[in-house]
Amino acid sequence: MRICKADGCFVQPKGYSSYCERHKRTLARHGHPHQKGIKKSELKPYIKDIETYLTTSSASNAVATLNDIWFRTVRRAQNHINSSSDGVPFNVHTMNASKAIVSLSKEVDSIIICKVLMAMGFWYEFNQRQWKHDEGFRFQTVRMLLRLNPREAAYQWSMHGMTRSVYREVPPKTTKALWSIINETKLVGFGMEIAKRKVEDLNERQRLFDKERAAVLGQAMIEPRETV
Ligand SMILES: [Zn+2]
Repeated sequence: MRICKADGCFVQPKGYSSYCERHKRTLARHGHPHQKGIKKSELKPYIKDIETYLTTSSASNAVATLNDIWFRTVRRAQNHINSSSDGVPFNVHTMNASKAIVSLSKEVDSIIICKVLMAMGFWYEFNQRQWKHDEGFRFQTVRMLLRLNPREAAYQWSMHGMTRSVYREVPPKTTKALWSIINETKLVGFGMEIAKRKVEDLNERQRLFDKERAAVLGQAMIEPRETV
């Protein structure tokens, strides 16, 4: 009997698929059969880290530079869309990715977009155990970006009368096309670099503390008590 290709799953796949229905869906949606969808609230602390860095350590033209980077990305996406009306052949997934970028830029401030991408990079570097699957990370980064756009979300009433957001399923190939646009901005990499610096800073503080502790307490403290 064939079993699902996902680690630890013994469900029989249907038809020609290598994965069971559940893992097939998770792979398409999250980029890896074991990748969990992340929440905005989980990203929040890392956005704070980025904001702190921007106000305390970045150069004074950092915000203007981020604006330029995003503006350039949107312009490229818009040119791509325009070229399709000139009869240039296009791939439907890269076209939808370009449309998503232009649509997002009309709804959301570019600095917020840049901060989200940098915060994802920060999170990846700062909490590596949480990101075991690179493709999963890429998909989550794309989803976080798309979720900034209110037009991507439709709202439904749940049984208890509370609103629940339902996101349009993005085809995996469109997600990959979006990731390649994101990757070109280098913003995720900047976020990773900021996280590395934070870790170095924390280690430096710890070394200083250890040194002071050893000086103040002396060595006697760790010697075992003499037994009588
Ligand atoms: Zn499975």
